[in-house]
Amino acid sequence: MTNLRIPGPTPCPPEVLQAMSWQMKWHRGKEFVHTFDDVTTKLKQLARTKGDVYLLTASGTGGLEAAVVNTLSVGDMVLGISNGVFGERFAIIGEKFGAEVIPLNFEYGQAVDPTSVRRILQAKPKIKAVLVTHNETSTGVTNDLASISSVVKEFDKLLLVDAISSLGSISLPIDEWRCDVTVTASQKGWMTPPGMTIVFLSQEALKASATADMPRFYWDFTEIRENSGRPTWTPAVSIVFALSVALDRMLKEGLSNILARHKRIAQITRDGVKALGLQLFVDERYASNTVTAVVAPEGLDVDRLLEILREECQTVLAAGLEKLRGKIFRIGHLGLVTEDDIAQVISALRVALPQAGFRGAG
Ligand SMILES: *Cc1c(COP(=O)(O)O)cnc(C)c1O
Repeated sequence: MTNLRIPGPTPCPPEVLQAMSWQMKWHRGKEFVHTFDDVTTKLKQLARTKGDVYLLTASGTGGLEAAVVNTLSVGDMVLGISNGVFGERFAIIGEKFGAEVIPLNFEYGQAVDPTSVRRILQAKPKIKAVLVTHNETSTGVTNDLASISSVVKEFDKLLLVDAISSLGSISLPIDEWRCDVTVTASQKGWMTPPGMTIVFLSQEALKASATADMPRFYWDFTEIRENSGRPTWTPAVSIVFALSVALDRMLKEGLSNILARHKRIAQITRDGVKALGLQLFVDERYASNTVTAVVAPEGLDVDRLLEILREECQTVLAAGLEKLRGKIFRIGHLGLVTEDDIAQVISALRVALPQAGFRGAG
């Protein structure tokens, strides 16, 4: 069986796959609405929020766009914090819809520094909202969202968070950290196929959505809100079934056990990588618990390595994105993942690395 270790889509448990084959239900009927409302209740429990949660039929990027267009107006000044490809994407979405985005960029592989956030919020009082990525999947950095949030709230700004690859796997108590919009997607830590983005909203975000004037139609929260949080358009019915089953599994394991498992497995991954004689791309102080980026040493052909892993070791890892292509590779360890899965990745690397030009120790 293929060992799929990329930061999404992630493997699904058998019972989740089975739910994907259930017969369709009328999406406005009593039975489906009951399942849907139950899914939202379970999501709020795992995300530790009493706010609203909306499910939109889209990948995570759709959720980021929904977050922007429902809370901002054309011409609004926003701070776009970025330390990787996904932070940049969030800022680009803001720009495309007419926000005046002030960029705050950190080197790829570095974490966001909350004191720089404070400095810029002090200097630019017109900033209305802050866009930030909790877990930067392109580099394997988890930003200190609790500290960033307390700075943002010191200045009373809206906080929009890309938590696509962290929520449900890395601790993110939404209400405690006062996140106004928090976005995730079904195919990351939720062990569900791609197809749904999940957007959590605070009271402040709902208030902002009443006056935000960015153009929107498919993503408009107004009707969802008037319909008790139920979808405006036909939802991905099978994904809702699958998510419901996956959430039951998560609640059975328990949030604290899930977070501890991710932490433990991330450490095993980093230790295994180092034991092979390879270097981690980021400082272990802010290394992610869901994705590990590994530096490609001199002489290693990353594309070749990933190909050998796929073709000969049934192991699928992720390449570096954009300017990190060829410079790093990434191991996803979120959702359905065990110590054994990672032991297999390390064994596969031990076989494939020398064939792809790595002459190091290990
Ligand atoms: C996966 C991911 C995205 C993009 O999600 P899609 O579902 O591919 O649209 C955005 N941000 C982060 C941090 C991600 O990990």
